[in-house]
Amino acid sequence: MGASHASGGQRMWIEPEVGDALAWYLDVAENRRPAKFRIASTVPTNVNPASADEAALWADLERLTPCFLARWGAIRTGAPLPRAADGPSLLELCRELACRMLAHCNFCRWDCRVDRWAGSKLGACKLNAGSRVSTYFHHHGEEAFYRGTAGSGTIFFTSCNMRCAFCQNGDISTDKDNGEAVDARTLAAMAWVLGQEGCHNINWVGGEVVIHLHAIVDAIALLGRGFVPTRAEIERTRSTKAERLFFIGEAPGSAEYDARFNAPMLWNSNFFMTPESMKILRILIDVWLPDLKFGPGRCAMTLAKTPWYWETVTDNIALLQAWGEDFTIRHLVMPNHVECCTYPVLDWISGHAPTAPVNVMAQFRPDNFCDPASSKYRDKYVEIARRPTGPELNSAWHRARTLGLKFEAASCDRRDSSR
Ligand code: SF4
Repeated sequence: MGASHASGGQRMWIEPEVGDALAWYLDVAENRRPAKFRIASTVPTNVNPASADEAALWADLERLTPCFLARWGAIRTGAPLPRAADGPSLLELCRELACRMLAHCNFCRWDCRVDRWAGSKLGACKLNAGSRVSTYFHHHGEEAFYRGTAGSGTIFFTSCNMRCAFCQNGDISTDKDNGEAVDARTLAAMAWVLGQEGCHNINWVGGEVVIHLHAIVDAIALLGRGFVPTRAEIERTRSTKAERLFFIGEAPGSAEYDARFNAPMLWNSNFFMTPESMKILRILIDVWLPDLKFGPGRCAMTLAKTPWYWETVTDNIALLQAWGEDFTIRHLVMPNHVECCTYPVLDWISGHAPTAPVNVMAQFRPDNFCDPASSKYRDKYVEIARRPTGPELNSAWHRARTLGLKFEAASCDRRDSSR
């Protein structure tokens, strides 16, 4: 492990190579600054979120976003956090907008326009208004700057809007009934527990998370308004907690700013989402973790049945870069897909997000429909029915190095012999 950037003990591991790209995340994780959702609670809205029509809500979001960004900028350089608004704030505006979107769902690029409140017709994710969590836990397998010493506070949702044939979480992503139904208070309680136990961030992940946007925004809005779960609510989360059979002590003050809940919100997503979802998340998310998997050819269609993949995901990552957000990128090296996927992905990152830390991952293994040992196996996936070879992985890392990408600190499982 390389040099620590930690100031409050040695809780966080940030290599100098990536420290600048994750400066805001680190400040929030170590409670030197309030998370963005705490700042959003201080920006009042003039509209009544409950009664205004959706166009008026969007207009107010457009009007308030520059105010929010100005306040965020001042706080980044040391200004104190103002008092939370007495009435509705940008937080409640975001929550209401996500609820309205659910009635004509356009959370992700499928743009299904189904009414998920009614649930009589389902979109590509097969979900109605309900959300389920498969498990929540301290994740010690994420990148060093996310797992730190106490783990990344991971809340793992079921279902997905993509159909990756090799999915390594196929039981969760393809089974919409996996896990347990959750409401906003239960989700907020999970985040609160993970924060109390010292996790360095709240890692919203699936399956895919954007298909649960309304539930997550609702939970974050609660956390931004001084939410503290009851003993009964904490107990209710236990059945979903991976560590329920052993004791994890509390770390008092590890998730507090001005004596209220504080933790960086981490958006761990396939990024196949709409600009509308991005606009809401911009107000709430402190650090982003997009997965850029497929190149610009037909691979997203043949391996994941996902059209418009390249333009959607790269547009969204380009937005992060333009917005000056903290983010890191993951790319999974797939067998026989180095030239068509890995090279164009790394080239694009070099041209459009050259300072973003990149995890060039070696952990692909054939799973789900690509596992020859499984009854689900389909012959058409024979090209990726194996692990990537050493030369394939080395050529991926060699390309990243040649392009000058920041991948060394982020690619924790790298065993590169190409130097
Ligand atoms: S989340 Fe995406 S896939 Fe699901 S209904 Fe909405 S637009 Fe369709």
